[in-house]
Parts: sequence; structure tokens; C-alpha cells
Amino acid sequence: MCGIVAYTGYKQAHPILIKGLQRLEYRGYDSAGISLLDGKVYTYKTKGKVSELESFIKNKHLKGSLGIAHTRWATHGEPNQKNAHPHFSQTKSLSIIHNGIIENYVTLKEELTARGYLFESDTDTEVLVNLIEDIRINEKVLLDEAVRIALCQVVGAYAIVILSDEHPNTLIAARKGSPLVVGIGDDEFFLASDATPIIEYTKNVVYLEDEEIAILTRGEELKITTITNQEKTPYIQKLEWNLSELEKGGYDHFMLKEIYEQPRSIRDSMRGRLNPITGNISLGGIIDYEQKLINANRIIIIACGTSWHAGLVGEYLFEDIARIPVEVEYASEFRYRNPIIGENDVIIAISQSGETADTLAAIELAKKKGATILGICNVVGSSIARVTHAGSYTHAGPEIGVASTKAFTAQVTVLTLMALRLAQIKGTIPKARFMQMLQELDRIPEKVERLLQNNGTTEIIAQKYKDVNNFLYLGRGYNFPVALEGALKLKEISYIHAEGYPAAEMKHGPIALIDENMPVVFIAPHHGIYEKVVSNIQEVKARKGKIIAIVTEGDTIVRNLADYVIEIPATEEFLIPILASIPLQKLAYHMAVLRGCNVDMPRNLAKSVTVE
Ligand code: GLU
Repeated sequence: MCGIVAYTGYKQAHPILIKGLQRLEYRGYDSAGISLLDGKVYTYKTKGKVSELESFIKNKHLKGSLGIAHTRWATHGEPNQKNAHPHFSQTKSLSIIHNGIIENYVTLKEELTARGYLFESDTDTEVLVNLIEDIRINEKVLLDEAVRIALCQVVGAYAIVILSDEHPNTLIAARKGSPLVVGIGDDEFFLASDATPIIEYTKNVVYLEDEEIAILTRGEELKITTITNQEKTPYIQKLEWNLSELEKGGYDHFMLKEIYEQPRSIRDSMRGRLNPITGNISLGGIIDYEQKLINANRIIIIACGTSWHAGLVGEYLFEDIARIPVEVEYASEFRYRNPIIGENDVIIAISQSGETADTLAAIELAKKKGATILGICNVVGSSIARVTHAGSYTHAGPEIGVASTKAFTAQVTVLTLMALRLAQIKGTIPKARFMQMLQELDRIPEKVERLLQNNGTTEIIAQKYKDVNNFLYLGRGYNFPVALEGALKLKEISYIHAEGYPAAEMKHGPIALIDENMPVVFIAPHHGIYEKVVSNIQEVKARKGKIIAIVTEGDTIVRNLADYVIEIPATEEFLIPILASIPLQKLAYHMAVLRGCNVDMPRNLAKSVTVE
């Protein structure tokens, strides 16, 4: 959460920083601010979005070729101007931006207050910058050393960047638990929470590791040390994403663009991994762990939010196809519930950003207990990709819309490939049948393309129900996770209360909610328990609920019962989640647009949840 951008070089910093903040705004958007060094430090900050900061700084002093900027997702203190970053130290010599939480800030603040420090904001961040200043002054050390000593006293998570009016060409940055990427240009450096603000200037990046401190001075080599004072050699990597992937490309919203990118993103997730002619599946990243997986005591999938729903589809896939026992856990619960984990368990951690704080902490816990950890991430070089033993990237391309769409279908695609590969090694499926399954998986991008052309229905449904307060989403088997994901999408971006439930479980509670005002979305394509779902639809209809159903093309039975149907192409049961989730993304999108909500930046949310 929160976006950090910083620059030191020979160009004017301000346009680079503002553009960078715009690219990172999906990470947090309750307030924004910028500090520029031009003889002295000029700091400007406002409540609200980056566009408000832009208007606010018009006609202000914006010179300087070194600066830092931040778009905030408040954890400590209201989202207002005073709490917006950057924060000054008391002497106004240091200015800091911070992503994360300083957990022991109360104690540190008391100590500093006793020493005469006054605080202008309610943030934990202002405590940290004053702690650094206090150490620098009292222990008479250089700034980087003061940062190091201060960070040794800090409990919590941080990505920070500091500038000082005494060092006109130098930025000091550090990270623990929150991501930070250094971009290396010609005699210039960029810093950001992820690579998106950097990509248009350089493709050479260094991902900082936890507890590393970077010293960036224009015209000099990048210097990295640890908070225990060990020197590190920077490991420079090449960025793969292109600038065009970060633009809206003619769509009104990133979310819509990302929904429509799915034929390509799903194809990219399979590219080079699936050969439907030879029957070969190869997931290079986990090849050395295939035996471990098929002999696993059980697979535990850990994730949060939408990734957790992908994990649930994974459970159905692994158990059904590869006959390996799976549990799916919320990372935030797993990490605090003293789980039983052994050396023969394999953990699969799923996260779009690869930076999800709870998932990272759950990984650390499982690692300590000796489990093998595999990752499924979208962001190359992200923390989860680096701390896991191995893994597979989803290759969905950058996802900017806060509500995940193409990353979800890419995660499910990778899990499907994994399950099929393990089934192949274990021989759980007869060869001829296996080949059919592979060929159908290969046809999925084309089917997604077709269903996306079928425009109009979701918009009509959204028009009809945009003013309701509640929605129910019901599905069974592979489609139960789809129901959960559909409900989550609607909640996230339209702020309509929605619940996903196993369709049969409805009669144990939610059926009480059904009356003539309750829209119920059934995921009811042809599959093994289609008739059972039809019975559930009848039960809702008998109570006058409004029925919106996702059905297979040509379906007549559900069509006769439902108020609205959305058709998807026929496919194998295990592949329905990929197809069925897409109209639900579109439904949520249109509802949100019609209700005037900010689709790409829904209230209170942030894309990459780097706080627990
Ligand atoms: N804890 C800090 C604050 O509340 C940083 C939050 C963020 O990551 O944006 O200001």
C-alpha cells in the first residue's frame, strides 16, 4: 500500500515524481505529497488524489533535481493534509516518505517527546524521521549511519526514502516488508514501490531486499549495505514489461482494459508451458519440485482476497484431477493460528503483487517449519517470488485496476496447468482423456474472446439492479469459488453488499434473505451437478427472488426460470471458473460505473496490501 517515488539526477525531478505517483496511485490514494530539494526543501501535500496535488502545486516553486513523493493509504491518523507524506524532522532538515507501519512508534514517540520533540502529525512516520534526526545529532554520525541505527530500533514494516538539505545529490532508502525498487539510469537514480514509474526511463533495476539500505548519489555507483552494516553487491535485473502495458489504451478504465485483455493474458500464462499436440506440460520454475508435490502429505494454499478464491479453485483442481489433498487458508489466519506444518507439506503462496504482507509472513512461518514453498505471483522479482523456493509467474502483465480481474484468471490458469502436470506424472487420468483436457485448455483463450464479444447483457442487468442494496451469488463445486469471487468484485467496486455461498448451503441460512427484491446470481452452466443447481434456482424462484444465471450457450432449462441469463461457451467442468468469472467481472464493472463509483480506485482499498 502507498506509492513511493523518488529521483536524483540531472533532470527536473517534479514531472518525474508526479507522473510516477499517477502510475502508483492504485496503491493508495487518500492523500499525496512531494518534497523537492533546491537549496532548501520545498514540501507540498494535500488530502485526496494525485490530481489534487497537481492543482495544488501549480505556480509553486517546483525546481530541483532531487525529490521524493508519496501517495498514501493511511494506517496511523486520518487521511488529511497534516498526516500526508512527506514528513519533516523537527529541524526541517530531513524529509521522509514511508510505506508500512512502525509498530513500536508509541514507545519511540514517548521517548522523543521526553527529549523535547514536538509532532505535527498523528503518523508513525514522523516519529521515525525524528528518531533518525535525534540519532544523527546526538551520536554525531552521518545520515546513513543514523538511518541504520534507527532502523535497528524499529519494529514493523517499512519502505522509506529520505532526503536531507545537507546532501543535495543523495537519497537514502531502506526496506523491510514493503517493496522498493531502484532504477539505474545514466548518472541518475529512480526509486519506487514498484517498477511502473521507472520503466519509461530505464529497464535496469535492483530490487532491494529486507533490511537493506541504499545510498543513491547522482553520478556515483549505487551503494547497498544492510542494517547490520554489511556491504552488498547490487544485483541488476532487466524489466520485462513495456510502457504501453501501463496505459489505458483507449478504455475508460484500467479494469475494463484488463477484463478485455484476458484472451491474451490467459494465453500468456500458458505460453511455452502447454503443448496440446504432444501432450507436454512444462512449468520450468517448479520442475525440480514435481516429485515433492506428488508425494506431498498435502498441499496448503495460502493467499488473501481474490488470490484466495483462485486458491479455492486450485483445491478443486488438485484434488479432482491430480488426487492430492489440499487445504486453502487465509494467510492472515494461518500465520497466527499455530498451524501444524511438516517437511512433507508443500505450500503454494498466491499473490498478484507478490508483496502481500500476510502472505509473506505466512511463508516465513512455513519455511521455519521446514515446508517447501512455491509461489504464484504476477510481479516478476517481487518479494514472494524471491523468498519462495520456486514458483511460476502468471505472466498476466501489469494489473493496475485495484479489483483483480486478469490476474485471477491467470492464477487459475497456472493452477490448472500445475494440476494437469501432476496428474500426468501420477497417471491419474487416462491418456486419451488427458489429451482432451489439454486441448480444451488450449481453446480457452479463444472462448474467452468469444464471450467478451457478447456485449450488452451485463450492462442491461446492471441498469436494472444498480440501486439494490444486496446481492447473493451461488454456485456449486468448481463454481462455488466463482460465486465468492463474483460477490467480492461487486462489493469492492460498487459498494453493494454481496455474499457468495455454495448454492446448496443457501437453505441453511441465506434463504431467509430472499424476497422479491433480492437478486441472486447463479453460476449454472452445464456440469456434473447442473440438475442440483436447477433445484436451487427453483427454491429461490419459489420465494420470488430475482434470478440472474450464467449458463452454457443454448441452455433452455435455466433460461425458462431466470429473469436474465448470461451465456458462456460450453467447456469442460474444470475450466468453467475461468469462463464464468469474466461476465461477473463485467457485471460488477457496469454496476460500479452506473453508480458513479471510482472503478479503478475503490474507496478504502489499495492494490498491493503491504500492511498486515
Ligand atoms: N503508516 C504510515 C501512515 O499512516 C504510512 C502509510 C502508508 O503506507 O501509506 O502515514
